[in-house]
Amino acid sequence: MNPVRLIAQKRDGQELTRDEIAFLIRGFVDGDVLEYQMSALAMAIYFRGMTDSETVALTQEMLHSGVTLEWNAGSSVVDKHSTGGVGDKVSLVLAPLLAACGLRVPMISGRGLGPTGGTLDKLESIAGFRTDLSISELQAATERVGCVITGATADLAPADGRLYALRDVTATVPSIPLITASIMSKKLAESLDALVLDVKWGNGAFMKTRDEAIELARSLVRVGKATGVTTTALLTDMNQPLGQMCGNTVEVNESLTCLSGGGPDDLRRITLSLGAELLQSAGLAETQAEADTMLQDRLSSGAAFEVFCEMVRAQGGNLDASRPIAAEHVMEAPRSGYVSAIDTEALGQAIIDLGGGRRQVSDSIDHSVGLEMLVRIGDRVDAGDPVVRIFANRFAVSVKERIARAVTIDEQPVPAPQLIIERVD
Ligand code: URA
Repeated sequence: MNPVRLIAQKRDGQELTRDEIAFLIRGFVDGDVLEYQMSALAMAIYFRGMTDSETVALTQEMLHSGVTLEWNAGSSVVDKHSTGGVGDKVSLVLAPLLAACGLRVPMISGRGLGPTGGTLDKLESIAGFRTDLSISELQAATERVGCVITGATADLAPADGRLYALRDVTATVPSIPLITASIMSKKLAESLDALVLDVKWGNGAFMKTRDEAIELARSLVRVGKATGVTTTALLTDMNQPLGQMCGNTVEVNESLTCLSGGGPDDLRRITLSLGAELLQSAGLAETQAEADTMLQDRLSSGAAFEVFCEMVRAQGGNLDASRPIAAEHVMEAPRSGYVSAIDTEALGQAIIDLGGGRRQVSDSIDHSVGLEMLVRIGDRVDAGDPVVRIFANRFAVSVKERIARAVTIDEQPVPAPQLIIERVD
């Protein structure tokens, strides 16, 4: 086979076979297919798309480009992936909650880059918490505690890391088959029995339109199922932050409240809904109501909180060490009316401006800064009411202006947006 001929074949809109895709991905990992050839292939895929069977083949080849996790016989191994958003701390609550129900959850997560925060950065607000577990540490801690949340190692789906780096600099990230293969190759390398995807749409999400998000959700679910993993997805709203807290330490603290049975209603509802998907997929609950009861019990009894504490200990963290939070500044409503829109991406950018997120991979993070949303879309406010609490160490006027512009107040009432829009299975 010849890579140039195969790239031309894709460029001209002809389907690639499984063997041809295998040849290209293996060649790329071995260095026989060169970076500029892979970039050209990514561009051809960007314009021509891929059929379902091509996307499945690409994902499976990328997944088998590295090691896959191995599990002892026992309870089902499950995970959740979110396409990311501002204030999205669901992983911190869901992994220990599912472990408290008896499932094994080897959650491999990412760092924040751009306006959406990263689970690993949030957890690193906890003194000593290690997010660089080796494969054997990850497997051992999952077997012992029930869950871990750690970063990807270089030997899991290495083809994805290398291809993503090329996509990032060749404007080929926004392609549904390439995104599908990228997300699913990493998740499926965990050797899961069941997976749930939280695909977010809206002004704070990767997918800005509902249609794109649905298309991605369907593609992810198709590939999961074709690989033998029970896979479902929920399409959820990201037109305002999830929960009240956005940042790092403040999100860990909100997660602890949720793990103790409290916390904001939207965070709790999304966490329970995603958890119910996995309990049903794993056969631990027959119905959503049964799953809900089981999950609520593990929150109110403190069992999920206990697992979280055990996971933190297993990963070297110390929850008793202080987690400083920066000084508070309250932003007030400039006029009376109804909160009609929140520019969620602008809030994510404001957190970066405060030092709580990254512009470049090499940037370090100030865990103590963040925002607390005191209003949601649809809320009535009077002039002078507190709208956003800002936790900041250094504070440029432009940041305050950016946050102020992000919250629109209109005279007419608007309905609260629907949180969970659709289920895909
Ligand atoms: N997240 C990923 O892991 N990969 C993509 O391609 C896009 C988002």
